[in-house]
Amino acid sequence: MSVTLQNIITAIHAKANIDNASGVIDNVSIDSRSQQNNNKTLFFALVGPNHDAHIYIEDLISKGVKNFVVNYIPEILNDKANFYVVDNTLAALQDFASYYRSLFDFPVIGITGSNGKTIVKEWLNFLLSPDFNIIRSPKSYNSQVGVPLSVIAINENHNLGIFEAGISTSGEMIHLQKIIRPSIGILTNIGTAHDEGFSDISHKIKEKLKLFSGVDILILNKNKTVEAFIKPEIKIFTWSTNDRTADVFYQKHTFEDHSILNITYREKSFQVRIPFTDEASAENSMHCILAMLYMKYSLETIVARVSELFPVEMRLKIKTGINNCTLIDDSYSSDFQSLKIALDFLENQKQHKKRTLILSDIFQSGLSNEELYARVSHLIVSHKISRVICIGEVISHFKYKFLNPVSFVSTEEFIAAFDSLEFANETILIKGSRQFEFEKIVSLLEEKTHETVLEINLNAISHNLNFFKSKLDPKTKLMVMVKAFGYGSGSYEIARLLAHHKIDYLGVAFADEGIELRKAGIDLPIMVLNPEMTSFPSIIQHYLEPEIYSLRGLKAFLKIAAEKNLDQYPVHIKINTGMNRLGFDAEMLPELIAVLKETKLVSIKSILSHLAESDNQEDKTFTNQQISDFDRLSKTITESLKINPIRHISNSSGISNFPHAQFDMVRLGIGLYGVSNDAEETKMLENVGTLKSVISQLRSIDPGETVGYNRRFSAKRKTKVATVPIGYADGISRLWGNGVGYVMINNQKAPIIGSICMDMLMADATEINCFEGNEVIIFGKDPTVTAIAEAIHTIPYEILTSISSRVKRVFYRE
Ligand SMILES: *Cc1c(COP(=O)(O)O)cnc(C)c1O
Repeated sequence: MSVTLQNIITAIHAKANIDNASGVIDNVSIDSRSQQNNNKTLFFALVGPNHDAHIYIEDLISKGVKNFVVNYIPEILNDKANFYVVDNTLAALQDFASYYRSLFDFPVIGITGSNGKTIVKEWLNFLLSPDFNIIRSPKSYNSQVGVPLSVIAINENHNLGIFEAGISTSGEMIHLQKIIRPSIGILTNIGTAHDEGFSDISHKIKEKLKLFSGVDILILNKNKTVEAFIKPEIKIFTWSTNDRTADVFYQKHTFEDHSILNITYREKSFQVRIPFTDEASAENSMHCILAMLYMKYSLETIVARVSELFPVEMRLKIKTGINNCTLIDDSYSSDFQSLKIALDFLENQKQHKKRTLILSDIFQSGLSNEELYARVSHLIVSHKISRVICIGEVISHFKYKFLNPVSFVSTEEFIAAFDSLEFANETILIKGSRQFEFEKIVSLLEEKTHETVLEINLNAISHNLNFFKSKLDPKTKLMVMVKAFGYGSGSYEIARLLAHHKIDYLGVAFADEGIELRKAGIDLPIMVLNPEMTSFPSIIQHYLEPEIYSLRGLKAFLKIAAEKNLDQYPVHIKINTGMNRLGFDAEMLPELIAVLKETKLVSIKSILSHLAESDNQEDKTFTNQQISDFDRLSKTITESLKINPIRHISNSSGISNFPHAQFDMVRLGIGLYGVSNDAEETKMLENVGTLKSVISQLRSIDPGETVGYNRRFSAKRKTKVATVPIGYADGISRLWGNGVGYVMINNQKAPIIGSICMDMLMADATEINCFEGNEVIIFGKDPTVTAIAEAIHTIPYEILTSISSRVKRVFYRE
């Protein structure tokens, strides 16, 4: 991409702080962390309800970025960079993308619908790539921000575009239409689920159809309700499995691991084999087949290519590797766009200094190989990759462009040489296109544990963080509690994300937890809630900040502080206002103040207390009493010592239920993980953790036969029993067994039958179409941790933190 600033300013209707903007832009960014930001970057400072990218401008200027599209010019930076002021930076990004799109003229497939957009896009890309230079949305970039970023990546050599569009409320599609301007439309489906953003189903249909206002053809499942809303001038091309009037008719026959679609089109019949058994995959295949029919592909080509379709994995996964390596698994695609995204993701993983990239040939960049690998080399240098392992004939040919390259012509050759490559203590990004079968490499590098994983959605954490931030006064500081291994979710990865979001403090329970974070390179201030006296020296060594809750603790800390000649070491004073757990009682304050007056060894960074029932919304008397006691007692300290420390008392439910008690800081805990005691608030939060396993074995038992220890389940009918390798030693309470709880298999409830064993449980899958090896969800969106907690009379905190450390945590970003 290369566009003059003059053209951009005109396209986005901006006012500039300079008289004459000159020069060209070759990169647009909205992400302050991207390593691709440089002096030819135009940075759009987006502002959302809960975040504002203007806070990153100063950092970006120091990294060499010169041009910014902003809502306002941060005062102290006025003469430090070129600012283009607009009313709305998102609208400006969209205007720019739609201007940029107008510079190109080739067929574009636009996809929308409730489900399957990304799969159809990825499959079409695979099916059509032998014949076109395709530009497509990376991952599931289909939002108001994702679509412009996708389109901006078009270059001169592309001759087909495939973009997806997703909307959540009315008024959004019109913007996406202007940016994508599809000539071929695909409507995957219209879900019946109630969406918050639409008043009713017809409203939703009308809004989605706006994407297709200028198409030559619209491909969809034949559906009278939808068709009633399609303008007569738009030509449609439909498929159906029950309506013979559709242009293409099919019937599906399911076998153990594949299906056959018997298709009739213009009086001709043909058969397609797809390697899937479910309905959704058949429907997604049909959309692709109709697109190919419309594009005049021969039936032979369609049949051959469709039989090669594959499951789509859109997420970058972080996995634990052998020899203390960290893996980033992106083994399903290798195009230039997604390489950039993956390298930026790698950048944010700071566990290891050493970084390795394993990369296959890159296809369909729209560039000559010479130019493509020169650009790849540039990316690799700017991301400080320590070694590059090239796999494939083409990339091997260009390896001279990389620093420290190792090359192999095939994945097999790499596997043969695996031991000599000595992978250890490094972060490894594995990025290859499908035909290279890099999943074989991942499985060599991955540490083998059992099949149960707790998947942590990092996007959901950001969302929840921003949700709570939006409830705070802008001046209120934010401490996030990552004690107990981040409420069971993994402390380091979460702390790293929080550091990016510029929170003010981290809180942990014990010194060890803080030391782990320091070792992993987290440099945010960290408060230790329950510092044991024996840990004071290591607390000081790692610059952790202890909470002091008793005179005994204070004196012990001062003794060590004196030995180490400390000056004004930051500590936190905890007051007891009714929790009766830790803290100074009111009558101890005079003595505390007397000791503190005499010393310069420590300085009071903050004063805190803890609420005992901030989740009680019925009776707020006790909590309000705690709040006013805290206000009074903390003031006694600050006034006697003439200091002005941070005061804080609220935890997650305190933030929601006692907005007047924010003082100078709040301590967010469980809310970050998507759990709230308020049903309305829960709806606004996103689920963070999904605990998954697989079916180890299926068996059918007859009426009267029993299941498990002490034969607690007895079959009333012929029952299909699924055994799942997760038990109470993994943290699944036995109270959740014997019909109380359930797991989800293929989106259906399978009641847990019999007692939960140490390492396994059994579920009733009689009604469910499933196979050994299929995925089982223990908790996540359904059942939620909150629902489980209610059913077994405990609290979500206990469920989350009980998940044993032998369950592998896998972090991902959408
Ligand atoms: C755990 C903890 C919090 C966070 O509580 P949540 O209810 O998870 O938000 C806050 N303060 C203290 C002292 C804690 O121990």
